[in-house]
Amino acid sequence: MSSTLPPVTALTFDLDDTLWDNHEVMVATENGHYAWLDEALARADTDRQRLSERFPLSAYQARRQHIARREPLRRGDFTWIRRQSLIEMLHDYGLPHAVAEEYALAAMEHFMTLRHRLTPYPEVEGLLDALAQRYALAAITNGNVQVTRLPLARHFPVAIAAGELLAPKPDARPFLAALARLGSAPSRAMHVGDSWHEDVLPAWRLGMRVAWIDKHDERPSELPAGVYRLAHVRELPALLEHLT
Ligand SMILES: [Mg+2]
Repeated sequence: MSSTLPPVTALTFDLDDTLWDNHEVMVATENGHYAWLDEALARADTDRQRLSERFPLSAYQARRQHIARREPLRRGDFTWIRRQSLIEMLHDYGLPHAVAEEYALAAMEHFMTLRHRLTPYPEVEGLLDALAQRYALAAITNGNVQVTRLPLARHFPVAIAAGELLAPKPDARPFLAALARLGSAPSRAMHVGDSWHEDVLPAWRLGMRVAWIDKHDERPSELPAGVYRLAHVRELPALLEHLT
């Protein structure tokens, strides 16, 4: 059907909410690492007011937003923003700077452990195995998942952490970085992702085709040419088949 377009030979994947449901992981991670920190501090100094009483989770979240606005050059680097927020908050809590830093680092280590306790959709493993036979694969994420810490890592020889590039999607740079490392022209690549603004629009503007996982059923009345709407990533092989 797409006789004027070159065949797709490379696929780039968003991760969170494309290959797994990220909501529960993030809730467990957010609550879990803060509760861990609260406990650790309470154990170390039983006389001090609990951290969670002085600074409830909502205060930590507000501080992250404040620091994100204050440090625009760090945009997208959520790990840095979290760590910095914890350091400043623990300092205000009365800990000397070095101790605040130590607890912030330990809390973030706990955060990263919890962040990687995620379960890809059951179809994903087999899907990527099959696709890797025919396509060059890459991951492009704004999230702070380290692909190398996931069992899925073997499918993604190319993995771009856009937040750490300080150029989170919808910035074009993470897409260009992935395409360069795959050695693919945009016209021969398809991006697969769930966010209209962070996945669909930037990839489409570069001339990639896009498989949009429309999780929230926010379908606009008309899709641009080269953008295909899927309800779930499991529908991707049928789409690719249809396009060849
Ligand atoms: Mg996503």
